[in-house]
Order: sequence, then C-alpha cells, then structure tokens
Amino acid sequence: MVRNELKRGWTGPNLKCPYGPCHYTGQDCTYCYCPFYPCGDEELGKFIPMSKGGKIWSCVHCHLIHRTPVCKYIASRVEELKITDPEDKRLRGLLDEAKERFLVPGKAIMVVGATSDAGKSLTAAALCRIISRKGYSVTPMKTQNMSLNSMVTDGGSEVAGIQMIQAKAARIKHPDHNVNPILLKPMKDGITDVFVNGKHFENIGVREYYEKFIPSAGTEAVRESIRIQKIRYEYVVMEGAGSPAEINIYYQDVANMRAAEMADALCILVVNMSMGGAFAYALGTIELLPENDKKRIRGIIFNNLYGNASSLKKGIEELEHIAGVPVLGVIPHMDIPLPKEDSLTLKGNAGSDRDNVNIAVIKLPKIANFTDLDPLYHENASIVYTEDPNDLKKADVIIIPGTKNTFDAMRWMSLSGMDEAVREMRGKVPIIGICGGYQIMSAMLSDTLGKENRVPSSTEGLGLFDAVTLWDENSSEVSVVNGLLSMTDEGIRGYEIRSGRTVTKEHPLFILSSFTGERTDEGSSRPDEKLFGTYIHGLFDTPAFRRYILKMTGKYVPAKYSDTDYDDILNDILDELADTFESSLNMELFDKIFMEARK
Ligand code: SF4
Repeated sequence: MVRNELKRGWTGPNLKCPYGPCHYTGQDCTYCYCPFYPCGDEELGKFIPMSKGGKIWSCVHCHLIHRTPVCKYIASRVEELKITDPEDKRLRGLLDEAKERFLVPGKAIMVVGATSDAGKSLTAAALCRIISRKGYSVTPMKTQNMSLNSMVTDGGSEVAGIQMIQAKAARIKHPDHNVNPILLKPMKDGITDVFVNGKHFENIGVREYYEKFIPSAGTEAVRESIRIQKIRYEYVVMEGAGSPAEINIYYQDVANMRAAEMADALCILVVNMSMGGAFAYALGTIELLPENDKKRIRGIIFNNLYGNASSLKKGIEELEHIAGVPVLGVIPHMDIPLPKEDSLTLKGNAGSDRDNVNIAVIKLPKIANFTDLDPLYHENASIVYTEDPNDLKKADVIIIPGTKNTFDAMRWMSLSGMDEAVREMRGKVPIIGICGGYQIMSAMLSDTLGKENRVPSSTEGLGLFDAVTLWDENSSEVSVVNGLLSMTDEGIRGYEIRSGRTVTKEHPLFILSSFTGERTDEGSSRPDEKLFGTYIHGLFDTPAFRRYILKMTGKYVPAKYSDTDYDDILNDILDELADTFESSLNMELFDKIFMEARK
C-alpha cells in the first residue's frame, strides 16, 4: 500500500472513506498507510501493550501526517527524490524535515467567564466546530474541571463529560485525558476526589489541594497536557473555570490565567447577559487582572441575550473605549439542549404533560452523570427532576440516576419517603436504575472497605432485585462498552464508571462483548415487573433502549430523532450552535485577532 501511495502523490481528504475520519473531520488521507511507520518518534506516537502480550507502535494521536500542507510537502519531496521503495532510508529524513517545517506549536484560544454559568462551555464548543469547519485540526481543553458528569475515553481515561461533547464539536475521533488533565469530583465534608490524566489520584481537602497538589503534580499535569495538545493540534480551544479574577487564589489557579500563560493563549471573556450588570461584570473582571494577564483578554462576547442587541450599542462602544477590548458580538438566548455541567442548572424540560411520556427522575443528593438522560429530551417526553415522592404517582417512567455517594442517597430516600413511593410503583411503570441508582435497587449495600463512607458499613436497599452490591478490592471499573439489549438483541454502547459491583440472581439487561469477542452479562432486569438496572452510562444514546422503555408506557409517539443515534443528534445541535455564533459574531475580527494574526 505504501508503495502505491509513494507513487500516487498527493490525493487530499477522502470524504467518501467508509472508515473515516480516523483522526478528525477534514484530515488529509494521502498517507492512509504512513510511509514512516513505525517511526518510533515519541513526540508523535507511542508504544502500547498488545492484548496478547508485547508492544505495538500506535499512531492514534498523530495528526502531523494528516495535515494537507504536510502531505503536499512530502509528496513533492518524494517525487523530487524519486523515492518509490518504502524501505528507502531517505524517508526518515523526510519525516524530520516535515517536523521541522510543520510541527510548530498549535495556537491556543482561551474562553474565560465573568461568572460561573457565563456560557464558557457553549462558546468553546461553538469555536471548536467553527475552527474544524475551516479545515484545521482543533481540540478542546479544560485544564481543571469540577464535575460529577464524567465520561470515559476509548483509552479508558475518565474526563469531564462536557469536554467529550466539545471534542465531538471539534470532530476529533480519539480525544484522550489531555482534554481535561485534572477532574475534580466533590465528595462531602470539603473533600474532593481528584483525577489526574484520567486516573484516580487522591481524595484531598481544599487547603491541601492548593498548598500541596497544585504547586507540584497539578501544575505538572497541566503543563504537560498543554505541551502535548499544542504539538498534536493546530488550534487548542481552552475553557476556564468560574472566573479568572478569583484574586484570593490567583497564583494557584491553574484553571484560568496561569493555564493561559502556560499555553500562551489569547483570551475571550464571556459574559451572561441574563444575569444583569453585564458591562460591570466585564470591566470588573478585566480590571482585577494584573497587567500581563489583562493584555491576554483580546475580545468580549455577550452571551444569552433575551431581547434586541441593538439596544446595547451605546453601552458596548463605551465599554470598548474604557476597557480597550473589542466586543466580538452578542449571542442571543438559545434553547440548545446541550448537556448541563452541574446539577444547579438541572431543570428538566416541562411539567407533566398528558400526551407526552412523563419521566420522573429522582433528584438524589450528589446526583451524577445525569447527562445519561439527554437523548430523552429529543423524544416526545416530559422530564421532571423531583425530590417529591408524590410526583412518582403521575409518572409513566421512573429513573433513579447515578450518585456520588450511594449510601447517603439511600439514607435520603428513606428519610424523604421516596423509597416507599418507588416500591409502590413496582410493576405499574418502568423503573430504571443507573449506576448508583441500580445499586439502590439491590436488597443490600455492603461497603466492607469503607470505600463509600470511609468506614465499613452496610444498609438495606430498595430490595427490588435479588442482588447485593459490594464495595471491595475488585469493585472499581472505568471502561467503554459495546453490547446487546438482552430482550431485543439490538446494539447498545456506553461506558462504565463505578466504584461498587452488584452480584445479581436476575436476568441480565445487557450482554456486553469485549474487544476479544468475550461476552459478559451486565445489569439486572425483570421485564414482567418493568424493573431494569445497569452500570452502563450512555444507555439511551442508541435508540434501542430508548424505544424499548418508551413503548412499554403505551404512550409512545415517535419523534423526529427517535431512530437517531445521539451522536448524530449532537452533531446537528453543534452545527446549529456554530451557525448561531458565526452569524452573531464579527467573524472577520475574530479571524484577525485569534487566527490570522498568529500565523
Ligand atoms: S506516529 Fe505519525 S509519523 Fe509516526 S508512524 Fe505513526 S502516523 Fe507515521
């Protein structure tokens, strides 16, 4: 194959390839089989273990050979040197030439917010899609993210879910832990579960986090990820956390201006109009920054405007004059169903509606991975997050979602009477437990190691399944999965992030198949009593399980996206988001400041 490629010369992107894109949308496929393989260059690839032992060279994150300017250069040099043999020693020299010319660090653009919920994630996702549509390789990155909504990369790393959504916006195939090197999961009593490079690192208190972790492992992880992302991609769209002007932790804050400095990023300040005081928020944030960092703020975006942007004209001119920073545009309020990051903004989509399927989601303490339910927003369904047991009586489907602490959640269920309310609905409507919610459906919860509660403990569950949930040495799992819905043999995919395991005597819900073809039972189901429990997150992404549950209510009316995989639904949403930003921003000014000026 390589011989043909050497002879054939430059061919460009192959948009019709059934396997593409292998790396990112818009990649160049001239060298589908890399003429330098295995180059052994650790700046580009790495050796990975093989399932049957030994190592193999992996190019999964090498984008250099998929950039059109690089492919054109190599093709012209191959022709010039009349290289036809893949074993030709001069090829290695060509790779070094290409690296020297083209492996220049990518450019970093950082989206910072005047407040939490300013619209940073949305803006970063929109910019990823806009830059990807221009044909560049681009990646999102949030150096530190506090989120109970995490997802798993296909390499088995755990990162914040919103960075995986932004990676879809950037249209990259294999995002890894470098999109979010530090993930924080709040536990209780001021303790945080810290993940570094996609793996559990430690449970740390706030003080120790800023005084010990950040100055050492924290900063190192951030610096290394920035270095790697800038080698791999032409653009890195970074997202800050909270506000960059938290002057109390300013020099330890690796989520904002310290990260911008490490990446030499130019920054955009996003302000949420609907909060009021937007001009003051913008100016106040900029004015609180030290001179060097203030210079990095090169544009302001006013986001989430209800009303007419022309009414802001005078104010914008005055702010631009005082702050010396241009306003790139005003984004109108959009009801774009992109995954929520934190449970504070969790509202569901409507009150109960007679025609729709009414889905009641029990709002457990420390609710986690509620993004599992996002595909249901595209069905004829009303989703209500509730802490009121009475709401279950009106429901057509009851969902017990994931939680960061199953024991605390079970205790809350008993104290609030939610446990009895669920038991009363047994057999009447489908009841689905996901991860912690599935554990709660067990007969017994037993934490022999004190993994959940820091002290060994056990308690009764709802007793809906003949199953026991254990927290012991072999109860943690982080992986992506594929398999079948056991009742219909339709395909499902998802991921597992669990710290407990459930030993069940019930019929499995899913049959998982591993890379080597091994099949394993997963979850519990009693279809006749409409009881379903699983550890699989993303279970509603493929239409199979969505349809199976909604049909069970007898009220199912297919919607526009009912047969559509959530990945494709998201793709449409992200294009719509990018369109709105492109039509609301001064794109010429954006290109001039953030793209052209830095060529
Ligand atoms: S890492 Fe890149 S240059 Fe090296 S062999 Fe793989 S694709 Fe080719």
